[in-house]
Amino acid sequence: MDNRFIRDHIRSMKPYEPIIPMDVLSEQLNIPVDALVKLDANENPYGMPPASIRRLQALSYGHIYPDPESRHLRQKLSERLNLPLENIVVGAGADELIDLLIRLMMNPGDVMINCPPTFGFYDAAAQVHDLRIETIWRNKDFSLDSAEIASAAKAGAKLIFLANPNNPDGGLIDQKTLSKILELPLMVVMDEAYIEFAKPHQSLVHEVLKRDNLVVLRTFSKWGGLAGMRLGYGILPSAIASEIMKIKQPYNVSVAASEAGLGALEDVSILNERMDRIITERTRLSHGLQALGYLQPYPTDSNFVLCKVLHVDAYQLKNDLMKQGIMIRYFRTAGLEDHLRFSIGKPQDTDRLLAALEALAP
Ligand SMILES: *Cc1c(COP(=O)(O)O)cnc(C)c1O
Repeated sequence: MDNRFIRDHIRSMKPYEPIIPMDVLSEQLNIPVDALVKLDANENPYGMPPASIRRLQALSYGHIYPDPESRHLRQKLSERLNLPLENIVVGAGADELIDLLIRLMMNPGDVMINCPPTFGFYDAAAQVHDLRIETIWRNKDFSLDSAEIASAAKAGAKLIFLANPNNPDGGLIDQKTLSKILELPLMVVMDEAYIEFAKPHQSLVHEVLKRDNLVVLRTFSKWGGLAGMRLGYGILPSAIASEIMKIKQPYNVSVAASEAGLGALEDVSILNERMDRIITERTRLSHGLQALGYLQPYPTDSNFVLCKVLHVDAYQLKNDLMKQGIMIRYFRTAGLEDHLRFSIGKPQDTDRLLAALEALAP
């Protein structure tokens, strides 16, 4: 259904893979929402932090526009990160900041490096802004091809997004590769959506102030249990932060999201405890998957486990699990057709998943 008023490069984009919401699946399968096991989007299985819930219940300024500068939240982030407030920007999820960074830095036709398999939104956002995408595939073990990245940067590419840990495999970028990439004439956006589940010293947050070509993105969606609130933040050189403040929508972070985020920052110790439980469960799930004999889990530093699927069709397996109300992630991406990704849930979710996989074993 073409329409001549739509810009050509957008008309030629593929539609976004639809995600089935829990209530829709619940109705389709006739299984109550509470009985679904949702392990497909790396959300936090323990729900929102208690202080976020309390703040949302007490919310009384929903009729007033939020502070366009999100001062209160940025102040609390600044204390937590021990970084100046002017280097912190908040957005409606890290996704919004990805889009804003492209808008800020890239003209149509400028070259962005994308290193799949990785988070799909980098490519999608680049397409919306009509960038030229230089695709540099990762190696079989999901490590980066730093030689190819270097030659693309030297040939004029301007921007690269790197997820660290990477989604969908969960692995970290090694230090040597990181330092090499940071030395290139390239804007590096390090997406640390899952860094809380890795070792804390792996973060590049404290490198940002030492350079002009590094931005770090974080989110409240995974560690913070606030995926539905849409709240993320960036640590940026102050010159870039102030330009972002100019172009963002004035009220991008809602009153509710802001309150929820403040709650999360008050509940850091509870969130860290939940994170420890997720990390313990990660080990148990990985071992359990390995023991099934037909799934090969990759090492992971995040809140999910990617597996190569042997002897059976991965897509079929995903659908068989879905019929039982267990939602997991399948990718159509080249090289991932025989892979599945499982988010880490509560211990009882692991039990149900492993039992179902055992019953479906070839
Ligand atoms: C989930 C995810 C995000 C999205 O974060 P939001 O704050 O929910 O927009 C960003 N990057 C990666 C790698 C992710 O997996």
